Amino acid sequence: MGVVGKLRETRWRLAGHYSRPLPAAFTAPLEGARALEVGGPSAVFSRDGLLGLYPKLAGVDGLQWAATTAWHTLDAQAPYTPDGAPTGVLRIVDDADLAAVPDASYDAVLSSHVIEHLANPLRTLAAWRRVTKPGGYLLTVAPHMAGTFDHRRPVTPLEHFRADRDAGTGEDDLTHLEETLALHDRTRDGDTSPLEAWSAERRDNANTRLLHHHVFTTASLAALLREAGLGLLAAQVRYPHDIYLLGQWGAEPAEDPLPAALRASPFAVDRA
Ligand SMILES: [Zn+2]
Repeated sequence: MGVVGKLRETRWRLAGHYSRPLPAAFTAPLEGARALEVGGPSAVFSRDGLLGLYPKLAGVDGLQWAATTAWHTLDAQAPYTPDGAPTGVLRIVDDADLAAVPDASYDAVLSSHVIEHLANPLRTLAAWRRVTKPGGYLLTVAPHMAGTFDHRRPVTPLEHFRADRDAGTGEDDLTHLEETLALHDRTRDGDTSPLEAWSAERRDNANTRLLHHHVFTTASLAALLREAGLGLLAAQVRYPHDIYLLGQWGAEPAEDPLPAALRASPFAVDRA
């Protein structure tokens, strides 16, 4: 990191971006909820995490596409026991439609750093809505492109997500592979493996799921969630790279939390 980067980090660190818990607007609606966490467990939801949500839930089940991934090694036979949470079950399901999960099973779905790894997010968001009770919630944490190795890539337009939905794009999609190989900034991902091995892992996305298929700003992620049918209840952006959005299915909140979140964002593209 250069001098400018260090100064920027210090500025946002002093402003509490790394340490100040997210406001109660994110967690109060989820107190006592039975939740399904996709792609966890996640430090951000743990007792001491910025959202500290796990101890407030009545229950939490986990859902992963495989027991062993680049991020987690879970025991497929064991209960799901993230830090501070009531014990739930772990579901190993590699299916964008979550057909094995009954309708309206949960009060909320939680996902941290998952949506960028989905080839067809509107398809999966529809599944997350289906397994949630009417009027239930989705809490999403996702990387802001300006704060990650995706900063050179174009922001994915809403039209693209609609086209993926209408085409029934599957999780084996490699549409964005060449763009990723060309524009991913390897100085930002902390991965020092040789370029050939690094590229091979991305070409093997069916087995690694390392690709960020799509690239988001705060506004573009909010637009995607709204397209899926969520009303936004809370929004915030934190340095170095996290967008936090809480939505409620089918809701039309009186107040839109997005403009204030954009004004306070550490990223110039949000404030423009
Ligand atoms: Zn796509």
